[in-house]
Amino acid sequence: MNKAKDKRIKKLKRKRIWPSVLGLAVILILCTFVLGVMLGVTGYDIVQRKILQSGNQSTRIAQLYEKYDGANGDDINESVQTYINICSDVEAVRVENKNKELLWASDERQPNLEYLVRFPLLNEETKSNVQMIIEEDSKQIFTIEGDTLDINENIFNVIANSAFITGKGQVSENTSIIELKLWMVVPVNELNVYVLNQINICTNDLLMFIMSMLVFMLLMGVLTIYYIISFISVIVSMRRTAKIVYTDMVTGGDNWLYFVKKSTTLLKRNRRKKCNYAMIHLKMRKYRSFCTCFGVREGEELIEKFYRVLKKNIMRKEAMAHQENAGFGLLLMYENKEQLLERISQLESMLDAVLPNMKLYFEVGVYQVEVGELDVEQLYNNALVACDLLGEEAENQVAFFDIEMNKQKLWERKVEDEMDRALQNKEFQVYLQPKISTDKEELGGAEALVRWIHPTEGFIPPNRFIPIFEQNGFILKLDDYMLEEIAKQQAQWMAEGRKIVPISVNVSRAHFTREDLAEHICAIVDKYQVPHEAIELELTESAFFDDKNVLLSTVEKLRDAGFVVSMDDFGAGYSSLNSLKELHIDVLKIDADFFRGADVEERGMLIVSEVIDLAKKLDMKIVAEGIESREQVDFLVEQECDLIQGYFFAKPMPIHEFAEKYRD
Ligand code: C2E
Ligand code: CA
Ligand code: CA
Repeated sequence: MNKAKDKRIKKLKRKRIWPSVLGLAVILILCTFVLGVMLGVTGYDIVQRKILQSGNQSTRIAQLYEKYDGANGDDINESVQTYINICSDVEAVRVENKNKELLWASDERQPNLEYLVRFPLLNEETKSNVQMIIEEDSKQIFTIEGDTLDINENIFNVIANSAFITGKGQVSENTSIIELKLWMVVPVNELNVYVLNQINICTNDLLMFIMSMLVFMLLMGVLTIYYIISFISVIVSMRRTAKIVYTDMVTGGDNWLYFVKKSTTLLKRNRRKKCNYAMIHLKMRKYRSFCTCFGVREGEELIEKFYRVLKKNIMRKEAMAHQENAGFGLLLMYENKEQLLERISQLESMLDAVLPNMKLYFEVGVYQVEVGELDVEQLYNNALVACDLLGEEAENQVAFFDIEMNKQKLWERKVEDEMDRALQNKEFQVYLQPKISTDKEELGGAEALVRWIHPTEGFIPPNRFIPIFEQNGFILKLDDYMLEEIAKQQAQWMAEGRKIVPISVNVSRAHFTREDLAEHICAIVDKYQVPHEAIELELTESAFFDDKNVLLSTVEKLRDAGFVVSMDDFGAGYSSLNSLKELHIDVLKIDADFFRGADVEERGMLIVSEVIDLAKKLDMKIVAEGIESREQVDFLVEQECDLIQGYFFAKPMPIHEFAEKYRD
């Protein structure tokens, strides 16, 4: 499969999944971020507020103590005690000098250094670097920058008028959830005032926080669910699309695309050659005829049944899919050629059993995959190429691919691409091979044989392109061209006053489908006003197998019109003496095969003499082809064969050479 096509199909299968994934990721990141920020901000804010509040209260006590320093100690104690009573958060106060000697204490409790808050007195000089620190075992656990305090006013006023003080009455011990008891130390001149504070984080604060969190989580939850659903639906629809893309419309099973994908994976996994793989093209013969007889729907049902049979009989590490019409592609594992053939034959029997009342025939092309070969389309093409070379016989047949087949296919493609251009450019040239009479050993006729003089390939003999032209129909054009060239040549020689001999042209069996063939030939020859006797038409017996009636009537018409008609290659292939009975022809050309091979020579000669005898009785002239030796010539003279065509006398040659050599 080419890359662009592969990409297009992949794109078709793939739905855009990334918007959902991205949406989900964004939501999760946002959730985490907002949660973190809210927790941080709210938590920090609550604790900071509470600590600040307590700190301010401690500062107030320190200031009171300082203010009344030197006065009556009882007054001070009383003032401080009063303040402690006002501030419900303040539990105890302890005043020490710098030498840690106790000056005054509200009760027995001593500072617990575990939670000690240093709270410096705020004034203009110290405001910029003031910090409130909570320490635990001398390790700083919480810090509040002094900048957050408003110190433009007298700190006492701040404390007195601040919202914290006003709000103190609302903090009830019952509703508080978190309690923090902190000793705060406030240095005042030569004193350290320790204040034990209770920090309450009340339910209201937390409730608000939790509520807002819940709303946020709900929102995020809805969005998350939405994205999860859309994510799942994208995956589901992707799977569905993939299923459609990989489904064969005839069998409802895996299609060709799936086959290519799976085969590629299997072949890739087999890089260490754990097993042998064979790429197989299996096709039912005469599927079109089946459809014509029973209907296309029946045909498709049959293909579907084939599919199920094959699917059931392949292993996990093998692949199979319907290709087109009645063709299937299979990638099978095998141990050796015999075992593979055995398995194919079993599969064929199982397929044949699908229709018990009818004998079904299959053709199979096999390509034995080499390790590392991964281009499934190419491998399958090789299996097809192998199959193409199978004959038309109805029996089940299996053909194995070999590299020559591929070369042949490439050559066929080249020939087909270039044949029209070659005809226009007159690359097809007429060669003439003389036919020599046995009595005087002089020129009695000639056969026109085509040669392709290719601009790059050079000289190409007819057996390399005639069979291709016979298959693709181009032979009709080529034969017409040859006939016209010969008619033209004969006309020219006649005009030059030269004595002419009949020249034969080959008429391929493909012509015998047109009923006006005789008229068509007459028209070409008459264009040059050449007497019909100057043209001989060689046809092969194989034309009998097409439309016999057309053949018989055409031969009749041609002979009536004065043309010499000969039967070419008599004795080759399926020749039968029977055809001679029905077909009235003038000349019998005995095939060169009779004169080949030493061991068959004797029997061949016997048959030749019999055939000559028979032909004489039927009033036919005899031409022997492919004669290469004096002995053969002598034998033919003895048998009273009329003309001899063969390398012994001359090979086919260009027209000018022929004209030169046989100048009368
Ligand atoms: P063919 O019609 O049987 O032509 C006789 C072939 O035998 C020619 O091969 C000729 O060169 C070859 N031949 C003649 N004498 C000898 C010999 O002594 N020894 C050997 N080994 N071969 C000999 P060529 O020219 O290669 O043609 C092959 C075939 O191609 C022809 O067989 C004919 O069937 C076909 N062909 C050639 N030209 C045309 C054409 O213009 N139209 C059609 N339809 N077929 C043509
Ligand atoms: Ca011939
Ligand atoms: Ca021949």
